[in-house]
Amino acid sequence: MRVAVIGAGVVGLSTSVALLRRGVDVVCYEAGAPMGERSAGDTRIFRLAHLFPDMVELAARSRSLFSGWRERAGTTLVEPVGTVVSGAGAGRWADAMAAAGAPHELVEPGSPRLRLPSPTFAGPALLDPSGGVIRVDRIRAFLVEAIGDHLRSARVEAVEQTPSAVRVRSGPESDTFDTVVLCAGAGTPGLAAGTGLDVPAALEHHLRVSFPIRPGAPEPLQCWITEEADGVLGTYQHLAAAGTWAVGGDVAGELVHWANGRPAAEQASVRALTAYAAEHLPFVEPRPVATVYCTHNPDLGDGLQFVRQGRVLALHGENLMKFAPLLGDLLAQAAVDGSTPPDAGPNATTR
Ligand SMILES: Cc1cc2nc3c(=O)[nH]c(=O)nc-3n(C[C@H](O)[C@H](O)[C@H](O)COP(=O)(O)OP(=O)(O)OC[C@H]3O[C@@H](n4cnc5c(N)ncnc54)[C@H](O)[C@@H]3O)c2cc1C
Repeated sequence: MRVAVIGAGVVGLSTSVALLRRGVDVVCYEAGAPMGERSAGDTRIFRLAHLFPDMVELAARSRSLFSGWRERAGTTLVEPVGTVVSGAGAGRWADAMAAAGAPHELVEPGSPRLRLPSPTFAGPALLDPSGGVIRVDRIRAFLVEAIGDHLRSARVEAVEQTPSAVRVRSGPESDTFDTVVLCAGAGTPGLAAGTGLDVPAALEHHLRVSFPIRPGAPEPLQCWITEEADGVLGTYQHLAAAGTWAVGGDVAGELVHWANGRPAAEQASVRALTAYAAEHLPFVEPRPVATVYCTHNPDLGDGLQFVRQGRVLALHGENLMKFAPLLGDLLAQAAVDGSTPPDAGPNATTR
C-alpha cells in the first residue's frame, strides 16, 4: 500500500511515522520546513482538561502514547508540571473531568497547590495534575529522525481522485497513491476543496508572546488557562525557552481579523498581551523577548473533525499538539482500513 501524507507539521509527521510502523510505503510532502508553520516554536500546553468528556478521554489516550514516544525518543517530551484552568467556568471543566474519570482538583486562588505567575486571579481553579509542558523542540527532532528519507520537500498543488487511485501533483511531478491524508494545516481547505471535501477555511492571525520570568516566581510554574473575566483577556500561559513565560490570548477579533494583515495583527497582539502581563502577572517582566505566530481558524473550537471523500482523508481542528501521537495513530489506521475516525468535542456530529 502507498500513502501520501500532505504536510509535515506535527500531525503529518506523526501520521507518517505511524504508517511506517504499520509497514506502509509513505511519502510525506512538505512545502517548507518540517513543523515550521502551526507547529512552530519550542513548547505547548498538554492537558487532560477539556470541556467535553470525550475530549478528556482522547487526551488521556494521547498522554499514554506520548509515554511510548518518550521511550523511543529517550527524552522527556511532556514535562509533568500540571495545568490549571481558572475562572467562573472552571467547574464545568471539572464536571467533564469527573465524567471521564480523570484526576483533578478544584481549588481557590491562594491555594498552596498552585504555582502561577500571579497569586490573585478570578477563581475557582481546576488543577489537572496530568497536564504539563509539551517539548515541541524535542518532538520535532524525534519525528524528523523517525521519518528519515520518506520526507519529500515539495509543495503539493493538487490532489485528484481517479477511479482506482489518487494523484498528487507538485510542480511538473505527479505520483499516484492508494490513499492521501491531508494534514496541511492552513493549506488543507484549498487542497480538500479540489477533492470535493468541505473543510472550514476562515482564518485569523494569532500570536503568542514570551516574557522574562522574574526571580522569586514559584517553581516549576504550572501551565495556565484563564477564562475571560471582567474585561480581562482569556489567555493560555506556560513555560517557554529557558527563563521565559509564553502568553497567548483571545485578543479582540477586530485586532486579528485576516484582512488587517499579519504585521498589524502582530503589533496589536504584542500590545494587548504586554499590557495584560504588566497588569496581571507580577512574576513576569512585561518586556516581550520572543513571539510565535500562526494562522488560526476561529470556527473550529477545541475539537477534532475528520472527513473522508473516497481515498482522501482530512483532519481539521485546533490545539492539536496535545493529541499528536493519537492523531497519527488514528489517521494511519483509517488510511489503512478505509475508515473515518469519529469526531470529538464541541462540533462532534454524534453529540
Ligand atoms: C502560538 C500557538 C500556540 C499553541 N498552543 C497550543 C497548546 O498549548 N496546546 C496544543 O495542543 N496546541 C497548541 N497550538 C496548536 C498546535 O500547535 C497546532 O494545532 C498543531 O501544531 C497543528 O499541526 P498541523 O500538523 O495540523 O499543522 P502545521 O504544523 O501547520 O502543519 C501543516 C504543514 O503543511 C504544510 N503544507 C501546507 N500546504 C502544503 C502544500 N500544498 N504542500 C506541501 N505542504 C504543505 C505546511 O508548510 C505545514 O508545515 C498552538 C499553536 C500556536 C501557533
